[in-house]
Amino acid sequence: MRRIKSIFFPTGRFYFPLLLLLFPFLLFAAGRMKCAWCGRKIAPGRAYYSLKNKNYCSRSCADRSLERSLPQCSVCGGKIRGAYLSSGDKIFCSRKCYESQLPQCTVCGKRSAAGALAADNSFFACPDCLKKPRCFACQIPTDGRRLADGRVICPKCAESAVSDEGEARGCFQLVRNDLKHKLGIGTEHPIRFFLIDQETLHRKSRGESGVVTEQGLFEYLAEMKTVVKRNLLGRKISEEEKKTSERFHVYVLEGLPKERMEYVMAHELGHDWLVTYFPGIRDPAVREGFAEYVGWLYNRLHGRDELNRRIESNTDPVYGQGFRMVKAIADKEGFEGLKKFLDSRRTGR
Ligand SMILES: [Zn+2]
Ligand SMILES: [Zn+2]
Ligand SMILES: [Zn+2]
Ligand SMILES: [Zn+2]
Ligand SMILES: [Zn+2]
Repeated sequence: MRRIKSIFFPTGRFYFPLLLLLFPFLLFAAGRMKCAWCGRKIAPGRAYYSLKNKNYCSRSCADRSLERSLPQCSVCGGKIRGAYLSSGDKIFCSRKCYESQLPQCTVCGKRSAAGALAADNSFFACPDCLKKPRCFACQIPTDGRRLADGRVICPKCAESAVSDEGEARGCFQLVRNDLKHKLGIGTEHPIRFFLIDQETLHRKSRGESGVVTEQGLFEYLAEMKTVVKRNLLGRKISEEEKKTSERFHVYVLEGLPKERMEYVMAHELGHDWLVTYFPGIRDPAVREGFAEYVGWLYNRLHGRDELNRRIESNTDPVYGQGFRMVKAIADKEGFEGLKKFLDSRRTGR
């Protein structure tokens, strides 16, 4: 249902110690001059100090001026006198300050200059953690448990994982009620709900999309009959496709953490609503974008910002782009405007 890409930080984040060598030179004044720090006159023949093309009446004036001009650590702000570390255009007084600004691995907590950031910003992983398997539900690398079918689940997702079909069916009813009564997105026909394993889901949704991590599926089955009308001579006068029965099915992957499972249910119910009121939309970005928008509305209803951040920043051209397109229309034109847009995207009817 969603795809996660990894983008890599540039690995060239080197640091190298450098030494600042700055000592004032003692000279004797040839003509009249002024101290660059305190402003006092320096008479001809008097000793003075020169530093970086400026003249000072005393060593203490030179030192105070130098102190002010010393570079500062980008992290703690401390003046840098000796060796320092540098990375990009920043400098650091110590290794500790340098490391404190590196991104922290979401998985092991270590700070690391190298690693990968998920395209939707959901995690940053150090090179060691990148080798770990991904949690099937949240896609974050994990040392977590391996399920019988080979999927791996992280401890956080495992806490609320739903594997009981009865429990899932109860959730499905609640999600459907919320959408219908609190968000005005509901249909009247019966929908059969199934909690299924990964293999069955993959088999059922094969060809539906190229996305490798589907977590749910909406299925609409209509039986059609061709009704042919003939005149008395047996010549065909009209031919019409008639729907004789319709079935609506929602499949959700077993073992998803409860909140994610409910979002997947809301997404699939978005497809159900769309097929019912605006059939004939072929553009996958409109279909998936609308379904994602329904999932997003449901998450917002329950204050689930974390799930919504991932929907909002999904880089997938169908799911992510589609969602942003649909939401932009709804934000600007309201839900009625969105309906007009959906109507305009119907084809073949
Ligand atoms: Zn001075
Ligand atoms: Zn520092
Ligand atoms: Zn790590
Ligand atoms: Zn997880
Ligand atoms: Zn979908």
